[in-house]
Amino acid sequence: MSDIIQLLPDHVANQIAAGEVVQRPSSVVKELLENAIDAGATSIKLIVKDSGRTLVQVIDNGKGMSVTDARLCFERHATSKIQKAEDLFNLQTKGFRGEALASIAAIAHVELKTKQETEELGTLIKIEGSAVTSQESVSASTGTSLSVKNLFYNIPARRNFLKSNTVETRHIVNEFQRVSLAHPSIAFSFHHNDSEIYVLPKGNLRQRIVSILGKKTNEKLVPISEATDVVEITGFVAKPEFAKKKRGEQFFFVNDRFIKNAYLNHAVTSAFEGLISNGHFPTYFLFLNVPAKSIDINIHPTKTEIKFDDEKTLYAILRSTIKHSLGQYNVAPVLDFNRDAQLDTPYNFKNKTAPSTPKVSVNPDFNPFKAETTSKPYTPKPFKKEEANWDSLYTGLDVEKIEVEAEPVLNQLFTEEKTVNKTYQIHSKYIVSSIKSGIVYIHQNLAHQRILYEEFLENITVKDAMSQQLLFPLEINFSATDIDLIKEIKEDLESVGFLFDTITNETIVIKGIPVNITESQTTIIIEQLLDDIKNDIPDTSFSQLDIMAKSLAKSLAIKTGTKLDAKEQEEIVNNLFLTKQPDLSPFGKKTFVTVNIDEIDKRFNN
Ligand code: ADP
Ligand code: MG
Repeated sequence: MSDIIQLLPDHVANQIAAGEVVQRPSSVVKELLENAIDAGATSIKLIVKDSGRTLVQVIDNGKGMSVTDARLCFERHATSKIQKAEDLFNLQTKGFRGEALASIAAIAHVELKTKQETEELGTLIKIEGSAVTSQESVSASTGTSLSVKNLFYNIPARRNFLKSNTVETRHIVNEFQRVSLAHPSIAFSFHHNDSEIYVLPKGNLRQRIVSILGKKTNEKLVPISEATDVVEITGFVAKPEFAKKKRGEQFFFVNDRFIKNAYLNHAVTSAFEGLISNGHFPTYFLFLNVPAKSIDINIHPTKTEIKFDDEKTLYAILRSTIKHSLGQYNVAPVLDFNRDAQLDTPYNFKNKTAPSTPKVSVNPDFNPFKAETTSKPYTPKPFKKEEANWDSLYTGLDVEKIEVEAEPVLNQLFTEEKTVNKTYQIHSKYIVSSIKSGIVYIHQNLAHQRILYEEFLENITVKDAMSQQLLFPLEINFSATDIDLIKEIKEDLESVGFLFDTITNETIVIKGIPVNITESQTTIIIEQLLDDIKNDIPDTSFSQLDIMAKSLAKSLAIKTGTKLDAKEQEEIVNNLFLTKQPDLSPFGKKTFVTVNIDEIDKRFNN
């Protein structure tokens, strides 16, 4: 048979590449604006006609191009911004791929006029579908003007695929806002169909935000500023009362590049927790400065996604910085902002060192509820009377204030007669107990979830968990994607007590498991965990570790229908009120309800 493989001609290759780089007119806007910034311009003008279908033009006063460069810039992989592979890890410019102009020139009528400061004359080049149609010397001012006309003229399918003018214009405006917000020291203007949309003089970030979003924005802004070894954070958030119903005004810039990052967005949102109501979104303009080496922006062709080296730390720092600032500017009086910001990071995240291999001790049939009878490394938290969070039982209830005497508080909360059996179980589902204000019904499963959740979180984030060594290593088969996921969370799994022997493409061999689970539960628990991580339970409060703690708590909590003896009931009640948030399960469900004595009285009076 004859050979059938051949190299694609350049203009075809360029057209294919263009599919990735240029999705719509706003992509052209972004690429041209970024080139102007990379060229060192201090003033940039954007002119658009018909939502970019007819014309996108960017005029800058940057360094311009030589005659040769003006010709070369339309070649694929032609760039002045990197020279060797290592440069990729220390990028200082917006562009680096050298394919934007080549792609654009393949699918539009392009006109480039450019002049360097030292030259008398500039160059004018016209190019259509990758073919140069004319080149001449012209008089021009220093800088570059690039016009992109009739976008997708030779790809009707793409042209027809464009949305309405309103939608395409919206995309262009978004792109313009992102770039101009990131560079307040550069003057920008934007004209659409001969009307002036924005004229932005050079200024500082606050001025830039105000000139884009309107004067009223000024009073809404709370400055953010934090410098750590890993990241420098500056910018503004809007006060909580100005939170929007739409996601619109949320801007992250990493090293002056606009990015989207759901995880970091979550960090910001969680800093506003309790300050804005459900269905509202905080407004923010946040600039993260990180060492160029610690990010990888090479993972997406249009470059709005970034991979960080240490996302978890960034999350914690970002969240606590914003909480702190909201407190300092008195917009959130409920937060005590004088606290060490470190305390605001979840469970001392910051102090956590890299997980070490869990300590091993053997206890094959440990039952957490038989705490006193066996000797084992894991014990439920001791019952500390002074610390119990019984007060929370009274929040929202109009009851007399409890006096705290020398006597342990708990005894006062329960009925005076200590001899009375304190708890009862009904329907193998609720634990009932008498309290001073009436009666409390505790949901055994949900309450235990809360207890285990906090224990796991503490183990994961603060100390190394205990592990029990299996007599015979356990071999479990998984799909390749699940194995990948397991590898990704291996360290976290180790920090709760799993010990791995080998992990191959299809099989994991486990030699140790957390002390509070049994060997027969292991497979189900890991499967459930992978499922939860894949589905990313919507109300997670932070990171994968959190999902893991929730998932394990859900799997291991004593189930409805389990009979509990008096001791076990007491353990649950006591440990529940030692948790940080006894009233809610990790998934936000009520763990107990109270019935006030008044309500009971009322029913008798009827
Ligand atoms: P990249 O920006 O990734 O290098 P482009 O295709 O966008 O690739 O641009 C190719 C090259 O053309 C750039 O590296 C730069 O040297 C030059 N160039 C493009 N736009 C301008 C401009 N506005 N001013 C000066 N030089 C420019
Ligand atoms: Mg570029």
